[in-house]
Amino acid sequence: MYWTCPLLRSNSVHFRLDGRELVTRRRDRKLVLVAIWALTMCAVIPALTTAHEPTPGSEDWDDIELANDSFFQFGASVPPEVKADMRNVLEVEWEDEATNNSNGITFAFDSSGPAAVRFKDTTGGICDSVTGWQGCAANPGQLNWIIWIRMTPTFFDWCFVSNTTGCRKVERVGIHEAGHVGGSLSHVNVSEVNTVMTTTAPGKSNEGWDTTHLQRCDAARLQLMYDLEDKAGHYANCLDDLANSAPQGLEVSLTAMPSQVTVCANTSVTISGRLEVVDYGSYDALGGNGLWERTVWIDRGSTDNYTFATTDAGSGENWSKTFVHSNVTHNYVAHYDRTTGEGLANSDDVPFTITWLSPQVPCD
Ligand SMILES: [Zn+2]
Repeated sequence: MYWTCPLLRSNSVHFRLDGRELVTRRRDRKLVLVAIWALTMCAVIPALTTAHEPTPGSEDWDDIELANDSFFQFGASVPPEVKADMRNVLEVEWEDEATNNSNGITFAFDSSGPAAVRFKDTTGGICDSVTGWQGCAANPGQLNWIIWIRMTPTFFDWCFVSNTTGCRKVERVGIHEAGHVGGSLSHVNVSEVNTVMTTTAPGKSNEGWDTTHLQRCDAARLQLMYDLEDKAGHYANCLDDLANSAPQGLEVSLTAMPSQVTVCANTSVTISGRLEVVDYGSYDALGGNGLWERTVWIDRGSTDNYTFATTDAGSGENWSKTFVHSNVTHNYVAHYDRTTGEGLANSDDVPFTITWLSPQVPCD
């Protein structure tokens, strides 16, 4: 049985994690992560201290499992409030396409399912060895995963028990544990805006305390492992820190052929090409992806965005545009412009020129 790090509640660790000066520079973040690893005696997480963000875990779910749901039941002592919260997290929020457009595992309740959510104080192993644990998970990437939610926390109340400042939401702890069992995601102590995989879940009124879904860098890590659920959908806006990435995210390649052509008057000319994510190894499952249902803008002369084409799901060329004129040469430039808030960069400009001969010129 493989144990993941339990989600902690420790005042001293929490204070150090929240120190703004410690999380604003990457070098400092690495030092903090090393310190946390030592403090919590967590299972070894090889990528934690050396890799860039996002840092995917291992790809544990196989293709057959990914094609089906992971089925979970509840332990006998789980109260109705926790059942409702955990079903919402696992069955709805986890796979919300707006926050997790990845093709990873999905969860469904089944009273005889091999996986389980339990409500206990003592679980054995590392959960018991860490003071103030909130949630704990075992067997990531396997059908018999277990999530424990703590029954009687030492340092705080659950918000469904006592809805006061500092209370913890079951959903926030639940989505974190789901990250362990569903994505093998390790801890990263960066802003709550970026991840739910912080070592400590924030209490009520602190940033992120009521988050019920994955955050942008969690989604990015899952996309790198499992590709996109919908290739016409959103690339998580946390893909800029990979090798070969642009400041906005993954580099995008655009082609347009032929680049130069001369034809008879009034002859149709079709220009076609491919819009895709550049196929770098560092892009893992995303490298080489065709970009579906995106707009390829086409300038003509000094007129920006003169016309456009929409990409399709083609495995080769995935866009085309037909032009027809007479007695003129037009210089065109095709380009893909990123959508603000998506982890893709602009393409380079791709020029092409079409010359239509005069109707007076003999032509066949
Ligand atoms: Zn954890």
